[in-house]
Amino acid sequence: MPTKKSSAKQKLYKCKHCGFGYREKKWQRACEAWCSKHNSCNIMITRHVVKK
Ligand SMILES: [Zn+2]
Repeated sequence: MPTKKSSAKQKLYKCKHCGFGYREKKWQRACEAWCSKHNSCNIMITRHVVKK
């Protein structure tokens, strides 16, 4: 049997400001940049949030 690491257990990148989780680091970084500047959420970014 081939040993296959499950892709279902992907690492989530979390915004340290709002705590939202993203599958892609670019969105996590975009969120952090936005959160630190605007103190609010950008719908273009939060649509990529991965719900637990
Ligand atoms: Zn954020």
